[in-house]
Amino acid sequence: MDQDMWSSLLKNVTCSECSSNSMQVITKSSFGLSNNLELTCGACGHSYGSTFSSNRSSLSKKFDVNNKFVRVFCRLVEGMLLLRHSR
Ligand SMILES: [Zn+2]
Repeated sequence: MDQDMWSSLLKNVTCSECSSNSMQVITKSSFGLSNNLELTCGACGHSYGSTFSSNRSSLSKKFDVNNKFVRVFCRLVEGMLLLRHSR
């Protein structure tokens, strides 16, 4: 994840707990291509909550970004196999 992007967005955001301008977004964990992101204060460590970078399917609970990646990968393989057999 590009930390410079977050620093630019959060440089003027003040922590309500300690009044510093040290807000940061950290990656708590990763599940394939989906990350669990948390907004915290770099000075006092106060957490403002976390969220995932991708939605989940309501039925399977799998992350949408991972399902899309698998579908695209399967299409690429199908395309490569079609090209190979058309020679
Ligand atoms: Zn703070």
